[in-house]
Amino acid sequence: MTVDFNDEGQLMASYRLPTAGGEENKVCPFSDDAPNEDHIADRLYGELARAEFVGPYRQCYVGHAVSDDYRKHGSSGGLGRWLNAQLLAQREVDYVIHVESATEGDRYFDYTISTEPEELLTTARSAYYPVSMDRALAFILENPGRYAITAVPCFATALRNLAEQNPVIAERVKFVIGIICGHLKTVNFAKALALQVGVQPDDLATVEFRHKISGLRANEKGFVAFTKNGERTEPVNTRSLLGGDWGHGFFKYKACDYCDDVIAETADIAIGDAWLPKYMKDSRGYSVVVARHPILEKMIQAGMADGSLALEEVDPEVVVRSQLGGIRHRNEGLAQRLIDDHSAGKFTPKKRVEPASASSDRRYIYRFRVQSRERTRFALQNSRDRDGNYQKQLFVDQVEDILRLANPPLMSRLVIGPLRHMADEARRLASIGRRRVKGRINRQPPRGVGSDPLVRHRAE
Ligand SMILES: Cc1cc2nc3c(=O)[nH]c(=O)nc-3n(C[C@H](O)[C@H](O)[C@H](O)COP(=O)(O)OP(=O)(O)OC[C@H]3O[C@@H](n4cnc5c(N)ncnc54)[C@H](O)[C@@H]3O)c2cc1C
Ligand code: SF4
Repeated sequence: MTVDFNDEGQLMASYRLPTAGGEENKVCPFSDDAPNEDHIADRLYGELARAEFVGPYRQCYVGHAVSDDYRKHGSSGGLGRWLNAQLLAQREVDYVIHVESATEGDRYFDYTISTEPEELLTTARSAYYPVSMDRALAFILENPGRYAITAVPCFATALRNLAEQNPVIAERVKFVIGIICGHLKTVNFAKALALQVGVQPDDLATVEFRHKISGLRANEKGFVAFTKNGERTEPVNTRSLLGGDWGHGFFKYKACDYCDDVIAETADIAIGDAWLPKYMKDSRGYSVVVARHPILEKMIQAGMADGSLALEEVDPEVVVRSQLGGIRHRNEGLAQRLIDDHSAGKFTPKKRVEPASASSDRRYIYRFRVQSRERTRFALQNSRDRDGNYQKQLFVDQVEDILRLANPPLMSRLVIGPLRHMADEARRLASIGRRRVKGRINRQPPRGVGSDPLVRHRAE
């Protein structure tokens, strides 16, 4: 099996022949032959309390690492690197596998292996960039020891499924550190942002997506490009760049539109950004945490007791509120995308969400996001001039064309929209109760909690 970039800028696994037992289909998180996140979470943490969209939880928290070494270098509150460093320092694991900047061809980020807590202080912040576990897994198989590995939800699920197939992985991977995830971007996201800050994509060595800019809100992330000849651009608020609004879904992996796990429900702990008004004012960042594993929970409690962590215990509902945009897109939005795909006769993987219609205004948003994902797939490649140089204006023209789709025509907004909305609401009210899936209402996020207009999407 090989893992390489396809022409869309996504890392893709390919193999010549399927295995005799079809093991790959039992591992892939999007395969209908693999158990879903509920089954895995029940197997691992069936004894814990459970909350809708959060999965099992021992305790939830919001806060940050007190030491600036962790928080300053972290994406949000520095909880991820603090925890990984503790695992090594307390000899709970021999290796931490996490993501670090890289400069190998188009691999601007890659999984790397650390054995000393100090190595974790200054590693890369969030990689909104394709990474692959292939080399890390090969290392685990070849080197006995105890491992912790950071993983976005679909990677966490794949690891759990792999552990069921492979006893060596099951024995050696002791902790899966879940990274809450809005969606993943192709290589072209980094390159398109670089083009807008004056760096030709072919000259790009690597990027930073989460530079903390003092005075800005925590969700106003600084983008920095590093060139092959050693130059570095000044941090720019990503939201000021085209594609920097996550609600538009530019350069998104198609798979992410069929994903229904935001909070890494199968990981031993889930860590994300506290996207809540109370915490977003502080550019230094706050993390949300969902602890599941008893050892990790004990470590957190000890960190709180000795003053290394400034965390408050919160209800899981606070975690849900901090991720409302992403949860809505991956539940109500997914239900709508499933209906649309089924009407068009397209294949969709089996999900925990049932197909269902959203209200007309939400439907418009979800359909726009599908369009913008599709239309940005090759937008960067189409920005080259005859000499092969990327032209910012060619990119901007295409994107502005796409963004025009975000605004429905006036007639539709003033007349057709409201009429459809009334009809939708009537249908929705009539259908409540019919939509119970395994004892819960179709994983629809709470209505009226936090608004999610297209231009202020709160998930990453
Ligand atoms: C693709 C992506 C999408 C995200 N979407 C959301 C979202 O919608 N909502 C939200 O609240 N948070 C999201 N996050 C998580 C968020 O960006 C921070 O990682 C999280 O808040 C932890 O910050 P921290 O300061 O506590 O941890 P840190 O101290 O920064 O530690 C984070 C750890 O994650 C590792 N890591 C970085 N990138 C990756 C990656 N791609 N795969 C695996 N491990 C990685 C780092 O190596 C580090 O060990 C996303 C992260 C990624 C990578
Ligand atoms: S949105 Fe889902 S499928 Fe996409 S990267 Fe995140 S966890 Fe994986």
